[in-house]
Amino acid sequence: MDKSKRKVVIAGNWKMNMTPAQTEAFIKELAPLVKGKDDSVTVLCVPFVDIATAVKAAEGTNIHIGAQNVHFAEKGAYTGEVSADMLKAVGAEYVIVGHSERRQYFGETNDTVNARLKAGLAAGFKMILCVGETLDEREKNITFETVSLQTKVALKDVSKEEMANVIIAYEPVWAIGTGKTATSEQAEEVCKAIRDVLAGIYDKATAEATTIQYGGSMNTKNAKELLSMKDIDGGLIGGASLKTADFSELVSDAQ
Ligand code: PEP
Repeated sequence: MDKSKRKVVIAGNWKMNMTPAQTEAFIKELAPLVKGKDDSVTVLCVPFVDIATAVKAAEGTNIHIGAQNVHFAEKGAYTGEVSADMLKAVGAEYVIVGHSERRQYFGETNDTVNARLKAGLAAGFKMILCVGETLDEREKNITFETVSLQTKVALKDVSKEEMANVIIAYEPVWAIGTGKTATSEQAEEVCKAIRDVLAGIYDKATAEATTIQYGGSMNTKNAKELLSMKDIDGGLIGGASLKTADFSELVSDAQ
């Protein structure tokens, strides 16, 4: 399968930014800027408290709304967490799991990422699974091993059929929020390696059909080149997703 047959997904990760009122204003401003730009899928992954507002504001537009995490249990004594049913009830369509900030600051492991991913898939969400090496891992020359392990453990017991709802975001940790972007060659090399891992777990067709994004300081200056690479099918975008002008330009770059 050639790249043009894969879904290109431009997803914003707002992290801990924006109130509901700001969310509504942002989406009203963004909608006309991305209208008709349907060669890629536009997603905004917003804080939990903004989801309902975002879903309402995005009605009738081509903007899809996602969450930034989901818990693996159906319900119960998990203070501060949010279940798949809750996210369904407020209309989210996408969920990010395994973001490096969750791994770094909140003790997320490959196993909990796997549990969260499976819970999200079982509830019918489109899942964005983040993987990526730290600077230390890159310098020790274990980038491929790290990313391969993260991918394999996160996808344990995820079926080939379920892979239709899994997007992988390759996000080198050293490039997130630092202004340091991986070169297009570095990003391509790892995205290709992830595709090879998928071919090993599943088969070539599944690997070829899976959307693999790059994330890490993607911006209006570097996006075109990154998006032109053979194995990069979109972006997961933090900082540049907080300004309508920048984010809509990234969507345009993906057309
Ligand atoms: C991210 O949060 O996933 C991300 C890639 O952030 P930034 O674009 O700001 O580096």
